[in-house]
Amino acid sequence: MSRIEPREQIVAMSGYHSPQVDVPVRLNTNESPFAPPAAWVDSLAAIAASLDWNRYPDRSAAALRAEIASRHGLDPAQVFVGNGSNEVLQMVLLAFGGAGRTVAMFEPTYQMYAQIARVTGAAVVTGERRADFTLDPAEIERVMSRDKPAVTFLCNPNNPTGVVEPRANLEVLLEKAPGLVVVDEAYAEFADWTAAPMVRDDLPLVVTRTFSKTLSLAALRVGYVLAPRRVIEALEVAALPYHLDAFKQAATLAALAHTDEMTARVAEIKAQRARISAGLAAAGCEVWPSGANFVLFRPRSGGAAATWQGLLDRGILVRDCSGWPRLAGCLRVTVGTDAENSAFLRAMEELSA
Ligand SMILES: *Cc1c(COP(=O)(O)O)cnc(C)c1O
Repeated sequence: MSRIEPREQIVAMSGYHSPQVDVPVRLNTNESPFAPPAAWVDSLAAIAASLDWNRYPDRSAAALRAEIASRHGLDPAQVFVGNGSNEVLQMVLLAFGGAGRTVAMFEPTYQMYAQIARVTGAAVVTGERRADFTLDPAEIERVMSRDKPAVTFLCNPNNPTGVVEPRANLEVLLEKAPGLVVVDEAYAEFADWTAAPMVRDDLPLVVTRTFSKTLSLAALRVGYVLAPRRVIEALEVAALPYHLDAFKQAATLAALAHTDEMTARVAEIKAQRARISAGLAAAGCEVWPSGANFVLFRPRSGGAAATWQGLLDRGILVRDCSGWPRLAGCLRVTVGTDAENSAFLRAMEELSA
């Protein structure tokens, strides 16, 4: 019997997995360390009981889109909601990437851009960041004129470096890009500027956001995109019918009533981030400035592998980026609770002693 193999793009890729090890202190996937508001959790049973479970959900998620649009001063026709911002990125690539087209990104950056671009059949081209991990305008220009990408990704603040891009570089990119510019703002709330207010119908700018980080709802799987109407129309064609289930639509709308409470924690995370950065520098690590809820660092003594294992031996899991191109020797730690960060910094002191 013949055995059909997956497409070559699938075979060539091993996938994207952050090892989930069951340890007391999990600082490896940039989640919020805080549970969502108890009042929201308590409302979920009533939300579930109120739904017409035999009926398909509102296909356009009109109420949710209207609420998100009003928060950004946009029209609901400029908003599309997905099952996590990763799904939104996939919709953008299904609609604007694909076979015969080129997708660009500047490395090191979020690995899912290249992965989803390849799985959906596009060619991937990469530009390089400078040593401080910001973009060089000359490199932006070079990649745009050489490769003419249909879609260019800019992660801001950038994962896994944490670096916030100067606004001027986005302006250069928007001026030079022949296709769409997607600014992934998964960590926008922790940074000092956002491209969201720049979205308008006559600019090829697409901004993505997620509920997974600041809003403490990684388990719910919701993200959205702000974009020109014509882009949103294309995403609606690419998406499966009823891709957003009725419970998610209602639960997300209910969560938006609690955003003040959730964003109030941003200040606490930023203060803890400063503490982690200072502690790592004091422990002799090289540390990159972060505008996100994580910190990229390079241990000076012991090396990344030994430090990662030493942390794990103490019940603390961080992300090992040392095998990724351009990030030799680097680890990434998510800002946790005060107690978790204390445990992490104590362990780092021991490991660098
Ligand atoms: C965490 C993260 C996301 C969020 O993905 P979801 O699918 O919304 O959970 C998107 N982009 C980047 C760069 C991230 O780090």
